[in-house]
Amino acid sequence: MKKITIAANWKMYLDEVSSIDFIDKLNAEKELFINKDIILFPSHACIRSVKDHLNIDLKIGMQDCDIHNKGAYTGSTSIGSIDIHSCIVGHSERRIIYKENNDVIAGKLGTVLSSKVDPILCIGETLQEKNDNLTESIIDSQISILPKDLNGRKLTIAYEPVWAIGSGDVPSNEYIHQMLSYIKNRLKSLYSDTDLNNIKLFYGGSVDANNLQDLISVELIDGFLIGSASANFEKFKDIVKQIKL
Ligand code: PEP
Repeated sequence: MKKITIAANWKMYLDEVSSIDFIDKLNAEKELFINKDIILFPSHACIRSVKDHLNIDLKIGMQDCDIHNKGAYTGSTSIGSIDIHSCIVGHSERRIIYKENNDVIAGKLGTVLSSKVDPILCIGETLQEKNDNLTESIIDSQISILPKDLNGRKLTIAYEPVWAIGSGDVPSNEYIHQMLSYIKNRLKSLYSDTDLNNIKLFYGGSVDANNLQDLISVELIDGFLIGSASANFEKFKDIVKQIKL
């Protein structure tokens, strides 16, 4: 059976005190989390504290990074600023709120791929785009920024329909399957089998402990990118409990 990854995007929900409190609770029940494939994405300012407090070996990632590696970029964070496992790029909140277009996201993806950090590229259509039957062309354009070959690098594509994020409105399993199949076929036309073996597909959008079991049955899902339910320890614990070793 495949090992499902749980990627916990804490967004800006937890400050340093609440991030440490979360980690203290996790340490106290660490048996539940050991040997599971979990990546925590604290806010940048809390990564150091989370790493220092964790008593088990979980992966830590950044929610975003700058295109540049160093220099006069006030308020920004470079991919090399702290040792991490993964970095999210192209999250819909970055695309919509911070107006990051495909060129910016392509730049960030390139920056992550030229470091040792594994990228998670988020893609997905808005409700308007879905209603206008533009979903596939949006996916095509978001995928068009992928490099020609991965040169042995790992890549995760997180399919997150924007209308499902934070809304409680989870697409049907059929819809998710249809979209992941579409994405997989596009990837097949771009990459060799070796590269394809290094690509994982995640689903994200209102995942919680109540819908997880049902969603896991979607064959093409390798993992979940989870926002609000991952930032509440009890809810996160209920999610992780359901993941088989
Ligand atoms: C997300 O922002 O990536 C996400 C999936 O959020 P939520 O789980 O809160 O819908």
